[in-house]
Order: sequence, then structure tokens, then C-alpha cells
Amino acid sequence: MIDRGTTASTVKERAQLALNDDFLRKAVKFTTERLRNGKEAAAEQHGNWEEWRERGKQIRLHTIAYLDYYLNLFADNARANGVHVHFAETADEAVKITLAIAEHRGARSVVKSKSMVTEELHLNRALESIGVEAVETDLGEYIIQLAGETPSHIIIPAIHKNRYQIADLLSAEAGEILPPDTAILAGFVRRKLREKFLEADIGMTGCNFAIAETGSMVLFENEGNARMVTTVPKTQITLMGMERIIPSWADLEVMATLLPRSATGQKMTVYMSGITGPKRKHDADGPEEMHIIIVDNGRSLQLGDPEFQELLNCIRCGACLNACPVYRHIGGHAYGGTYSGPIGAVLTPALNGNVAEWDDIANASSLCGACYEACPVKIPLHEMLVYLRRRKVEAGRGSKAESLGMKGFAAVMGGARRYRTALKLAQLGQKLVVRDGGIRMKVGPLKGWSSYRVTPALADRSFRQRWDTLEQEIRSGLSEIDPTVQKRMEQKRQERGQEQGGHGHA
Ligand code: SF4
Repeated sequence: MIDRGTTASTVKERAQLALNDDFLRKAVKFTTERLRNGKEAAAEQHGNWEEWRERGKQIRLHTIAYLDYYLNLFADNARANGVHVHFAETADEAVKITLAIAEHRGARSVVKSKSMVTEELHLNRALESIGVEAVETDLGEYIIQLAGETPSHIIIPAIHKNRYQIADLLSAEAGEILPPDTAILAGFVRRKLREKFLEADIGMTGCNFAIAETGSMVLFENEGNARMVTTVPKTQITLMGMERIIPSWADLEVMATLLPRSATGQKMTVYMSGITGPKRKHDADGPEEMHIIIVDNGRSLQLGDPEFQELLNCIRCGACLNACPVYRHIGGHAYGGTYSGPIGAVLTPALNGNVAEWDDIANASSLCGACYEACPVKIPLHEMLVYLRRRKVEAGRGSKAESLGMKGFAAVMGGARRYRTALKLAQLGQKLVVRDGGIRMKVGPLKGWSSYRVTPALADRSFRQRWDTLEQEIRSGLSEIDPTVQKRMEQKRQERGQEQGGHGHA
């Protein structure tokens, strides 16, 4: 089982651990397929999905292009609503601000909901270091907190666990054996967390969208815990990445159409809460004090970068993870960072700034483009992954074997005669490794590939070789062919002769 304590240091090693874990592979495959099918059905049912994807993309492009303006507008409006707004440039700063609020309020416990940003900041550890208990209240987050692990999916943090493993974890917490029955397990967690909501001094959440025109923040959720977190404790802290902004409530309509469908295939999430400031005089509930901490932590490094600025358009729906053939096999922990899947492979090096340390995760992709097709705001993740790989090679950190292979490929493809000779050699050489029509070499550089797939063997005679034979047969009267096709063939032969004469190739 992969967890934070793994000693595997490369993506390849971590992926191998995941592939050896049958429970993990089955659990991840089962849930990602369910989510992906749900998303596709919801998009089809919508009827106008591509148009709305484009609208979503345009809203995100516009917002990020004018991010400074919308951030200031949001902060001004939130302050006018009575919210304390803080800007944190780094993870350390965000943690310091949070701890200062907790200490000022004399907090002993915090209930949390919906916050990948707090994962990014390792905030739970920091809170524990000053004696504050931090309790995750999303069911999946609660499970992985008990397991001492990190989320392995943006929206389904415990995707890698099945109900038997979850029953074991919750039984240990309950002090009695709980059956692997989802209703019973959820009932236990509900009762347990209810006590925590009532005791907590601070409620802490992330934020799906922050609405600049009114200084409000919006949360999408299915369990109702975010409502408890934002209404029961006296103090409320929201931590949000600086890119969570959208200009207006009208823009939210587009996002509210795209996000739940892309994330879970739902038309709407069960709860959508809009929060505009702390409790007012006549409100029945809500926090008396509210803070919003706007976190940069490497995000502004992407602004103005033509290759990566679109990363900030991400609405954290997780659809690219569910669509990715690599993620579906290895799950999230193999990526090594807070964010996993195609978005994690690009976002982790971008946020950390330390490209060299993270540049192997760009290889955890087949570059098939499924992530782009799935993305509701059309982020070209596959192109970013290619760019990351190129940057790694240009910085001299590429694999020597790969570089030699590419040079060989370029040499072979650079001339017709060389290509034909290489093809003939390959046709002869492959006889050593071909069985039942497929290449099954389980040693050397092809070992990883061939262990799971059969590469079709090269045909005994290539298309070009068969074409040449046909031409000769026609000329010598052995075959008959339609005169129009014959004329076209003759034309082609002449063009080829001219081309080869012009380039010096035979
Ligand atoms: S990159 Fe696109 S698909 Fe992936 S999480 Fe972000 S918005 Fe969703």
C-alpha cells in the first residue's frame, strides 16, 4: 500500500508499488470508470456541452487575464461584508496567518471541509504542532486522516480504498467491529463528527469559487458537512488559491453547470452554499468572525507564462484524472504531490518551482489527450506535458538511452534509402522475438511495455514493397489494372523520381 511513508522516490517506483496492489487497482478502476461514464452521460444529456465548455474556458481566460483587478474587487467587497481578508505569498505565510488566528481565538479544535489548499500547505501538521486538533469532516478525507495518508484524488480522496479496508479503519476508531456496510459505516461517521462540529472553535473550508462582484464564496458539496463547518463554530477561516475568483454570479451559472457534471456526473451537487460575510444581527446562525486567506504559493509564477498560464483556469473537478489511462491504473499517490493525475503532473512542478525535483512525473502520461477532451475548461494539459518533457531534455536531464533512440530515429527517417534499409533489417531482426504474430520481448527497454501488451509484428512485406511488386507485374503484363489508376500510378512514380532526384535520395 502506498502512503506518505513510502521510500519509493521516483514515479516509476511508486507506480510499480501501485501496480502490485490489487485492492488499489480494482478500487481506483471501479470508481474512475463510474465517474467517467457519469460525466459522459451528463454531458450528452446536457445537449450543448461543447458550447458550454467554450463559455467556461472564456470566463476562466478572462478572469485570469485580469486577476489583479478581480482579486482587489473581491477583497474590497469581502471586507465591506465584515470579512478579514489576508493575502499569503507563500505556504509558510498562509500557515503563520492561520496559526495566529487560532492562537488569538484560544482554539483547541478545528473542523475542516473541502480544502485541497490546506493539504498543499500541510496545515493539519502545523495545527497539531500548537496543540490544536484538526478534524477532516468530508467522509473520504476523514477516512484517509484515520489511515494517516494523503488524498489520492481531487474529489474522491479515499478512492484507493474499498469498503472492507474502510470498515477496518472505522472499527479501530469505534472500538468495536463494524460490518462493511456503507450505510452503517456512514452512520457511525455521522454520529462521531456531530460531536466534533459542536465542540469546534474554528470551522475551516476551501472555496470552489469566489465571486468578485459581491465578495462571496461558494462551496459545492454532497454531504452537508461544509454547511455544518461554516455555520456552527464561532470563527470561520476560508483558505483559497488566488485563482478561485470568477467575476459574477452570472458566471457562476456556467461553472455550476460544468463542475458537478464533470466531477461526478451530477446535474447539481446536493448542497451549494453561497457565503457573504459573517453572521449578521438577525441571522439565526453563522460565524461571528470570518477570515479569508488568499494563497499564492507559486501560482503567480504562472501568470504571463505562455505555456502555463492556463493552468490557473483549473476548477479542480477531477475529470482529467478519471479520463487518464495512467491514473486509472496507478491512482494518485504515485504522483508524489498533493495534486495527482494529469493536472497534478503539471501543477506540482509549477507550484513548487523546483522543476528538477518533479520533472519525472511528466512521464506518467501516454500523451493521448484524453485529459484535454475531459476538461470542462479545455486546458491543454497534454501540450503542457510535452513542453515539460522538452524542458527537461533541453536542461540536460533527459535519459541518455532515450536521446540516443531519438537520434537513431531521426537518422532513419531522414532519408528514403536509410528508411528502407532499416525496415528490411527490422523485418529480419524481429524474427528472434516474434511469436504468434506479435513481438513479445520481456527483456531490455521494451520489457515494461511488453509485459502488458503484444506489439503487432512488422508485416513480412511492407506496403511499399507490395506496391513495387504490383507495379512491376503491371508493366510486364502479369496484372491488369484500371487505366485511370494506371495513369495515376505512373504520375506518382514520376513525381517520386523527381523528388528523390531533387533530394539526392534513391
Ligand atoms: S485540469 Fe480540467 S479536468 Fe483536470 S481538474 Fe482541472 S478543470 Fe478538471
